[in-house]
Amino acid sequence: MRAIGVRRIELSGRFPLPKEARKEISINHEDRVEFFTDEDNIMVMKYRERCCICEENFDVKLIKGKQVCNDCLEGIKKGC
Ligand SMILES: [Zn+2]
Repeated sequence: MRAIGVRRIELSGRFPLPKEARKEISINHEDRVEFFTDEDNIMVMKYRERCCICEENFDVKLIKGKQVCNDCLEGIKKGC
């Protein structure tokens, strides 16, 4: 992770995401982002749907209206 810019927070709490950051992770107008925090930091990530079983947000597919990751899908196929 590297510093990519400094922005001032508006009175409303809004702040613009630097164009370079949006371009780097392919965030476009109307895309959703997700915020994570720890004691001193806020991290912004491109929003990805989460698996309805394990909450993983990588390699998730829509199966019969439910978001399921590949690991859980393989587990279901094996009867685990
Ligand atoms: Zn899963």
